[in-house]
Amino acid sequence: MIVAPDTTALRNHIPRLKEGSRCVAFVPTMGNLHAGHLALVRQARGCADAVVVSIFVNPMQFSAHEDLNTYPRTLDADIAALESAGVDVVFTPTVKDVYPEGIEAHTAIHVPVLGDALCGKGRPSHFDGVCTVVYKLFDMVKPDVAVFGEKDLQQLLIIKRMVKDLNLAIDIQSGPTQRAADGLALSSRNQYLMQAERAVAPRLWETLKACAAELKTMAGQMDLSILDAAKATLEQEGFAVDYLELRTLSTLTVSSCLSEDCALFVAARLGNTRLIDNIQITAT
Ligand code: AMP
Repeated sequence: MIVAPDTTALRNHIPRLKEGSRCVAFVPTMGNLHAGHLALVRQARGCADAVVVSIFVNPMQFSAHEDLNTYPRTLDADIAALESAGVDVVFTPTVKDVYPEGIEAHTAIHVPVLGDALCGKGRPSHFDGVCTVVYKLFDMVKPDVAVFGEKDLQQLLIIKRMVKDLNLAIDIQSGPTQRAADGLALSSRNQYLMQAERAVAPRLWETLKACAAELKTMAGQMDLSILDAAKATLEQEGFAVDYLELRTLSTLTVSSCLSEDCALFVAARLGNTRLIDNIQITAT
């Protein structure tokens, strides 16, 4: 496995990886890898001849009050895990390398509507930062396929839309959310949870699942007050709920029926830790 610490090193390796029209799959990450990331890497391995993984904590997607400086960084362990997973190239650029001119006046990619809903409301420039860095990484790695997690479903839909709108010839694939045994979606930020918070955290997924099951039984005549009841339950258990909403997958429009594929999206804070999760509900 090759570790490319900057764009120059990466540029030297990419033509070799692509030689003979070999298919290159790419998995962008912010590191601190867990079983969720590694499942995406396995999926990439299974659908391509070569796999590139990036590890880059992207400052452009953090706002001033967020956890950029404390975000967990475990580069040596990540590199060892990727080597065992059979990755061909790990790209670990520095901030200076990705943003030589800084991020203040940097060109940004904005995906309207999808990027303004849900997490986009509370984190207004977050998805611009995500799209901009993913676009730049796509340009550097030149993958045929890129794999993203359904854990970040809004992000996945936004990236798919960006690729479509900008005519990028990249096949965007997605992998299912990997969970701890008690149902909590794996996330690098779970380690911020205090012991008592970690014990309560699985209630987020349990509540989503219960809500989805109830909505399914209602079919055409959905009583969305069950979402308010679920929010109230979560609040009682100690969550501060940012949103719990049923939205369509095509446009992230608030939905009140299951006439097209939808998902329940939730974001809630436990203490200082913000957790997100979702469950897809196919149209009946
Ligand atoms: P991150 O390092 O958090 O930016 O995530 C990198 C990629 O891993 C993104 O495509 C995420 O959606 C995906 N991912 C994060 N957590 C999980 C999980 N629990 N299961 C599956 N994919 C995940």
